[in-house]
Amino acid sequence: MIEVRSLTKHYGNLTAVDNLSFEVAPGEVLGFLGPNGAGKSTTMRMIAGFLTPTSGTALVCGHDVQSDAIAARRAIGYLPEGAPSYPEMTPRSFLAFIAAIRGLATETASQRIAAVTEQLHLESVFDQPIDTLSKGFRRRVGLAQAILHDPQVLILDEPTDGLDPNQKHEVRNLIRAMASDKIIVISTHILEEVHAVCSRAIIIANGQRLADDTPAALEARSRYHQAVSLTVNEQTDIESVRTTLRNLPDVRSIENDERTIIAFPQPGTTLLPQVTALANQHGWQLDGLQQERGRLDEVFREITVGEAAA
Ligand code: ADP
Repeated sequence: MIEVRSLTKHYGNLTAVDNLSFEVAPGEVLGFLGPNGAGKSTTMRMIAGFLTPTSGTALVCGHDVQSDAIAARRAIGYLPEGAPSYPEMTPRSFLAFIAAIRGLATETASQRIAAVTEQLHLESVFDQPIDTLSKGFRRRVGLAQAILHDPQVLILDEPTDGLDPNQKHEVRNLIRAMASDKIIVISTHILEEVHAVCSRAIIIANGQRLADDTPAALEARSRYHQAVSLTVNEQTDIESVRTTLRNLPDVRSIENDERTIIAFPQPGTTLLPQVTALANQHGWQLDGLQQERGRLDEVFREITVGEAAA
């Protein structure tokens, strides 16, 4: 369990984190979302015990990160923002060094180093100085050190930053695979990542929590939630499709962009079966037909825009 209690951080006159409280339970992957400067990294650094709060505290597996720092740190793996800063070391020497700092017994250390090296595909660069590695490999070395001691809690600051799409996919799979028996907190500004890995998302701006919900519930706040979008081909008269849809009692409004029409439902109604039936009845030629889940980017903007500018 992570328990964050009234966590606050001031930098001079700036309140970077403002009286934040929340709990995270085992099995949860919590996505920390917010615009740049929202206070995500500052919060994660305080939970990881790398930054002293101005007030408030955090408990990790029952250990206060300040008064019981060693026990708390033992339970935590932390991937800081950016890449690890031991440029002259190789992944081999870096991971051996971390294993020693973590106090792993020799045999356990060798087993864990082998395991994380395989999990993060570091074999090909194992003996290469870290400063000669690509950003993606450096990120993976950072992740390897975070999971080396198989901690109960993982705090990962932008874990897929700098990775190519295949590597992002692999790291997301790894996070999902680790999620069942751990508590994972990740920060990200990539909204698709929230779908891909998070069971819950907290949106913050100006150091304050503005939303705390499942990704699906956040999407349901979008005006696109359950809207039906259909793309008609050149053989179909788009105006007659528009008129037919607009006349449906369950359609609240219609928008269109070139050959794609979006029909927004009246609250509590489901349009897709009706639209499908009409398409068959009128012989509309469709290149695409789908019901939208809702657009997280739009919800995120709505929640954070006014706040971030304040
Ligand atoms: P995020 O991770 O959401 O982008 P940060 O936690 O890095 O946000 O930063 C929150 C705010 O605190 C920002 O306005 C940032 O400029 C400020 N800040 C972060 N670290 C420091 C520092 N060491 N000294 C002064 N201001 C800082």
